[in-house]
Amino acid sequence: MGGVSSLPHEDLGTAWRAARPRPAGIHLDSAACSRQSERVLGAVARHARHEAEIGGYVAEAAAEGLLQQGRSVLAGLVGLAAADLAFTESASASVRTLFSRWQLAPGSTVGVLPGEYWHNLAVLTDAGLVPVVLPADGAGRLDLAAAERVLRDAPPTLVHVTVVGSHRGVVQPARELAGLCAEAGVPLVLDVAQALGQVDCDLGADAVYGTSRKWLAGPRGVGFLALRPSAGARLTPVVGPELFDDGGAGLDHARWYESHDAHIAGRVGLVVAVGEHLAAGPDRVRERLSALGRATRERLDGRGGWAVVEPLDEPTAITTIRPPEGVDVRETARRLREEHGVVVTPVGRERAPAELSGPVLRISPHLDATTADLDALAVALAR
Ligand SMILES: *Cc1c(COP(=O)(O)O)cnc(C)c1O
Repeated sequence: MGGVSSLPHEDLGTAWRAARPRPAGIHLDSAACSRQSERVLGAVARHARHEAEIGGYVAEAAAEGLLQQGRSVLAGLVGLAAADLAFTESASASVRTLFSRWQLAPGSTVGVLPGEYWHNLAVLTDAGLVPVVLPADGAGRLDLAAAERVLRDAPPTLVHVTVVGSHRGVVQPARELAGLCAEAGVPLVLDVAQALGQVDCDLGADAVYGTSRKWLAGPRGVGFLALRPSAGARLTPVVGPELFDDGGAGLDHARWYESHDAHIAGRVGLVVAVGEHLAAGPDRVRERLSALGRATRERLDGRGGWAVVEPLDEPTAITTIRPPEGVDVRETARRLREEHGVVVTPVGRERAPAELSGPVLRISPHLDATTADLDALAVALAR
């Protein structure tokens, strides 16, 4: 294909590919679940084995130094400190904990975008909160000037924004929004489940949560919740320091939201995966992932009548495409997998009912994807 851009940092792609099991086909589905490295898989297995050898809680205590290092590094990626971060079971578990423990008066309003993730909206309304829709453009991106007016004239109790959507690879201007929220004295919560690992998430928010298995390529069943101390002070844990004779022995504030029993091996794996992300260089990772997004969009727009939703240069590796009239998205995903060995996700309208007019197909390559993989998808799609 002449004229299409080539990919930067081929060394990252080569190293990423060499570091993990050989894929059974063409894996273009990291927004669903990335492929873990041999080192991560090994670390998880070793911790599980260690539990069997010396006891689960003894093994956990032995891993505490590594886990604390992980809290520090993960928190650092979102602009916070080790004391501010709790490991959780998933991003979904984090948002449930956040809004069940944050004592907000019923009827409090939460500014959200039209494309807010289904589960987040359900959690907000379940907590008795009232979502109010912030102004966005046709791509679903926050309109900052209009948001500034809302925050000045009719501020919601808090703002909740998903930095990159599950249904659309558009990046929200969260840093600018954090500035506006701070000025208005409105707490800002960010869902970085699809953002962390592919865009900068050190954005100045009050609470940030995310997941392990997507762009960080850690194990499934692990997530995190990070709280600025001032935000943490507004939450009440189910069990807090007052229950303990020693007042909780100075346990860091976020730790009250960490589950007592958990898949510790998975947390160990996430810490190793974050280490690999840092070693690769987050800036270089971002550059290659955005280039992969662009290369995907260049190849797929118009193919077989499918239409790319994201702007060509949107700096993410998530591309969604709308089907031509009469083509079923689920059936296409099945055909790509079964007949061409290509793994992608059919995204149903329910993920963002106020923004999607119908299902889309999501393509999300990680660093190891090649232009040949994308060409193969383009050819298969047009069949
Ligand atoms: C995947 C996803 C979640 C949920 O993450 P889990 O770790 O599976 O709970 C939340 N928000 C967005 C935007 C996501 O894409």
